[in-house]
Amino acid sequence: MRVPRENLLGTEEGKGFYQLMQQLPQERMIIALGALAAMERAIGLTVEYVRNRKVFGAPLLDMQNTRFKLAECKTNATIARTFVNECMGKVLRGELDPGTAHGQWWCTQRACEIIDECLQLHGGYGYMMEYPIARMYVNARVSKIFGGSNEIMKELIAREL
Ligand SMILES: Cc1cc2nc3c(=O)[nH]c(=O)nc-3n(C[C@H](O)[C@H](O)[C@H](O)COP(=O)(O)OP(=O)(O)OC[C@H]3O[C@@H](n4cnc5c(N)ncnc54)[C@H](O)[C@@H]3O)c2cc1C
Repeated sequence: MRVPRENLLGTEEGKGFYQLMQQLPQERMIIALGALAAMERAIGLTVEYVRNRKVFGAPLLDMQNTRFKLAECKTNATIARTFVNECMGKVLRGELDPGTAHGQWWCTQRACEIIDECLQLHGGYGYMMEYPIARMYVNARVSKIFGGSNEIMKELIAREL
């Protein structure tokens, strides 16, 4: 296809793919940030839910299993935030490194696991699309695929070993 010269995207003709590749760290960070936000939102929603849901006369939050599961989720989300913050600093300084691949696969994997745990704590309501956690479960799944699948992220990391 002929494209008028003034419609050229990027700075160099014939190098479109390479120019696109230079933006991949930013794309990976957007995906990692989205996963982090999803983790934190899922935990917030679930804490609110288990505080109000009563089972056997007591809030679900009083059960040790609920407390331990949410504590694990919170620990993972805290680690994710710390790591994403560090990666963001690198991206903003233009220091492209495989760290962003770590962030994308790790955060999206953890987000799917955390949302799954949070959905479980919602019981049957968690399976109904009227509840935000059910929609989060569906939406989180694709984050392990788009922007380069998590297997490809691990391949990039493995090349640097
Ligand atoms: C909702 C959505 C939005 C998207 N948006 C965009 C977009 O805006 N722009 C864009 O360019 N693309 C977009 N994509 C495409 C996306 O980047 C690809 O779907 C993704 O990179 C996976 O490629 P594929 O679908 O061809 O799967 P495949 O490459 O066929 O992969 C299938 C499976 O094989 C595994 N696999 C593939 N190669 C290897 C390997 N070398 N080693 C080990 N395992 C491997 C994969 O991890 C995966 O599990 C989008 C996809 C979705 C679902």
